[in-house]
Amino acid sequence: MTTKKISIIIPFYNEAGNVTNLYQRLCAALRELPESWELICVNDGSVDDTISELIALQCMDTRIRVIDLSRNFGKEAALTAGLDHADGDAIIPLDADLQDPPEVIPALLEKWREGFDIVNAMRASRESDGWRKRITARLFYQVINRLSNVKIPPNVGDFRLISRPALDALKQLPERRRFMKGLFAWVGFRTTIITYHRAPRYAGTTSWNYWKLWNFALEGITSFSSVPLRLSSYLGFTVSLFAFTYAIKTIGSTIIFGNSVKGYSSLIVVILFLGGVQLMALGVIGEYLGRIYEESKQRPIYLVRQIWESPSQNSKDS
Ligand code: UDP
Ligand code: MG
Repeated sequence: MTTKKISIIIPFYNEAGNVTNLYQRLCAALRELPESWELICVNDGSVDDTISELIALQCMDTRIRVIDLSRNFGKEAALTAGLDHADGDAIIPLDADLQDPPEVIPALLEKWREGFDIVNAMRASRESDGWRKRITARLFYQVINRLSNVKIPPNVGDFRLISRPALDALKQLPERRRFMKGLFAWVGFRTTIITYHRAPRYAGTTSWNYWKLWNFALEGITSFSSVPLRLSSYLGFTVSLFAFTYAIKTIGSTIIFGNSVKGYSSLIVVILFLGGVQLMALGVIGEYLGRIYEESKQRPIYLVRQIWESPSQNSKDS
């Protein structure tokens, strides 16, 4: 019987301070496993010592593969690179900052052995976040789940287990803009959830800020819902209805009372209001148009500069 293989995928962006500790914790957590495992480290254009630390580790441990991207492509692209290079029977993406504790991995694998294809790891609480992030996160999941047809489980990050069949299905989704949480939910398969306690960052600082989070949320909503487009047409319709009613009133009063050139304020209000609504609707269309443009260019999601792996790694039954 060939042993099954687990692929752990970790994107690294300026995480030099976490490499050693992460590796040690992973080794300790995976020591007892009956399966063999490989570690795929994707260096997402870090500007610190991350890559040299990773290469040093790779020299020591042949189970490690290092994929160096040509520049910083963003976490979702780095993750995609890792998924493309994984050849395990179960795949687990993990954050490099030890916020997703490796000790949870055996619990994920337990569910996988029971027959689940996707095992989501849900944060038991968000107490390691500030109140603002907690509120905005809650709002985000409420909005996106109301607007889109696929249900995206709240408080599930990228930490999860994906079986080989589910990953092969995921790879068929060609989009360049990759909203991973949504894509995982979209493919379906037998899914279950376990909860875990999310730790604070071990070293370094998060590369996220509110502007990035806002754009991430926008990405999610536009990738998984066309409701904003529809809303803007409803808004246009409602406003036209008001405009039409107002026009009838104006014409009527001109016929009955004559025109005494009044109504400058109502005129300016209507002009400004309509202008605003039109710009807003154009903006919404623009958001989608921009994404169509980007998809139509068919550029690759990431570019690999170099791969460090030991020769024996290419054979699956190692
Ligand atoms: N990351 C990445 N590319 C980026 C930004 C982040 O590969 O452009 C990686 C980062 O190294 C970490 C993971 O994505 O392993 C999560 O990043 P971070 O901890 O900054 O996000 P947060 O946990 O605050 O959501
Ligand atoms: Mg983090």
